[in-house]
Amino acid sequence: MPDTFSVKFWGSRGSMSSSSNAHKKYGGNTACIEMRCGDNILIFDAGSGLRLLGNQLMKEDAKRMHLFFTHCHYDHISGMPFFSPFFYPKAKIDIWSGHLQGKNKTQRMIADYMRPPYFPVGPEVFSAKIKYHDFEPEDRLKPVRGVTVDTLALNHHDGCVGYKVKFQGRTACLISDVCHIAGVVDQTIVDFVRDADLMIYDATYTDAEFPKFANFGHSTWQHGIRICKEAGVKRYVPFHHRPSRTDKALDKIAEQAKRKFKRTKMAREGLVIRL
Ligand SMILES: [Zn+2]
Ligand SMILES: [Zn+2]
Repeated sequence: MPDTFSVKFWGSRGSMSSSSNAHKKYGGNTACIEMRCGDNILIFDAGSGLRLLGNQLMKEDAKRMHLFFTHCHYDHISGMPFFSPFFYPKAKIDIWSGHLQGKNKTQRMIADYMRPPYFPVGPEVFSAKIKYHDFEPEDRLKPVRGVTVDTLALNHHDGCVGYKVKFQGRTACLISDVCHIAGVVDQTIVDFVRDADLMIYDATYTDAEFPKFANFGHSTWQHGIRICKEAGVKRYVPFHHRPSRTDKALDKIAEQAKRKFKRTKMAREGLVIRL
């Protein structure tokens, strides 16, 4: 098996999908990230970007994959019913979540989302072999040999889980969605992401916008940099862009962010990072 570790963005938008001529560069699909650890396929969140990833996986005839949920707000689950591998009888898919406490929560989360009158059919229409897993934040998951996935509870309405994926000595962290307290760098997050090769972070707002949205459950691109600096994170990807944020506005943030933290790359659809 190859020892390559790559991270690809299929949806980098937060809150809701958005499409216009001013959203072409960064894309309008919501949260979906693919990590490839060797031949292993790990997917984080099922926002609208999941549909496109599904098409790619069908082209590759991929049969084995793991889908992890940070939480199930609509921007992180709306792609679920449109993921082609769910309708491929040869596929075996493990679905994981830990933001809801209790037994069978992952299975129930999917069934609750896909049901009339909100959606015409339920997950019983899937023909892939699906295994549901429930975990508790702070559990260490071992979905496949050689890959460890650490988890952390994040401060977000209705709960959310941060992930740290380790493969062949390299580490990628996903910290979204999360709300910070102005002026405070959360030491639990700093400890969790310490020395990571990559941190993907909830950069919904700017520091200037934050006071207006301080209890909306999100953070700022500047706050992500504070965490990176304190934790010795090597590369930073601001993620979960506001629907209203245009390409031009995101380009400007990218420029400002790079001045404060050189190894910054804004999340955009199609971006691949090799660790
Ligand atoms: Zn979100
Ligand atoms: Zn959310």
